[in-house]
Amino acid sequence: MNPRRFGYILLALFPMFVFMNCSSTKTEPRTSTNTSGESLKYFQETSVVELEVHYEAGAEPFVGNTLQGRPYWGVLQENLAAIFQYRSAPPTLNVPKTLAEMHDMGVFGRTEWTSADILALHAYAKLGEPAGGAARFYIYFVKGNYADAGGKQTGVIGVSIGGTPVIAIFKEVIQTNVANPNGPAAKFIEQSTLVHEMGHALGFVDSGVPMASNHLDAAHPGHTTNTNCVMYWLNEGVTDLQAFIQQFLVSNSVVMWGPEVLKDAQALSR
Ligand SMILES: [Zn+2]
Repeated sequence: MNPRRFGYILLALFPMFVFMNCSSTKTEPRTSTNTSGESLKYFQETSVVELEVHYEAGAEPFVGNTLQGRPYWGVLQENLAAIFQYRSAPPTLNVPKTLAEMHDMGVFGRTEWTSADILALHAYAKLGEPAGGAARFYIYFVKGNYADAGGKQTGVIGVSIGGTPVIAIFKEVIQTNVANPNGPAAKFIEQSTLVHEMGHALGFVDSGVPMASNHLDAAHPGHTTNTNCVMYWLNEGVTDLQAFIQQFLVSNSVVMWGPEVLKDAQALSR
């Protein structure tokens, strides 16, 4: 399948992403132009950034390679490399790329997960703390849906729990909403969501990493006004989404951060 055809498939499916992006505004307290100690650590001190990935049976992350021969989890790794490129000594990135490098949690059988449930799961399942100088992010792929005060959120793929290194991915939302749930577009949507949630966990936008320019979407705290950035809320028309997709398909780049987010990272980096 050539890249253009891949692009068309993404376009056909990407409107789903509008509704499945994330719900960070519901889970993350926000303060204006806040620099958190954690974000400072990530962009000035951390020597290793590692991901610890756990999955519930039946909610396994997509692995394997893209049609271009790139590991799917290489999409997330390349975006992390891009966001840390301004460090004088960029951190070593430990990103698992096969299920053998991830951790099977068995079956929970839950239909709903609140933020408190996810943190309880984290306390139960995490393997350990990072070594000195390292930062570890924990990603949990589970069955069932995210739930908040408004009830079950059947359109939410991922959440980043504010103030923690914990991310949850609700695999069923991809499995039940994408026409070909095992096709490249579904796998791409999963990786895009991981990049977006890692963006929140690192402190973007204006949630720990200060803004070098004002690009905060006031209506969607934690998100950018740049429609061509992965940290955009993606709630506008298909025109913006087309541009977003074409941007990295045509250039053969998978870096999804917009220039404003990259400048925020650059300004904080040492
Ligand atoms: Zn978000």
